[in-house]
Amino acid sequence: MCNTKITRITGWRLHYRVPRVKGGPANADNRVLLHPECHDRVHSLHLSVPEPRLLKEAFEGPEPNEYESLTSGSERAGPQ
Ligand SMILES: [Zn+2]
Repeated sequence: MCNTKITRITGWRLHYRVPRVKGGPANADNRVLLHPECHDRVHSLHLSVPEPRLLKEAFEGPEPNEYESLTSGSERAGPQ
């Protein structure tokens, strides 16, 4: 939203472009990282949020709490 880079120092808010209450998915395509201040501005001014291109810059690795466990029991059934 602004020209300041989102870092761990500035902090961020997860913004859903399509709100979850309106059926928006919880995947990365629907999520945008915003500064806490910018996030407030988006909602107070009803701004639209651009593409979530900052995601890769902000995250160095997966956030443990954000990822649902996708591990479904896959058993290795082979001979022997
Ligand atoms: Zn900002």
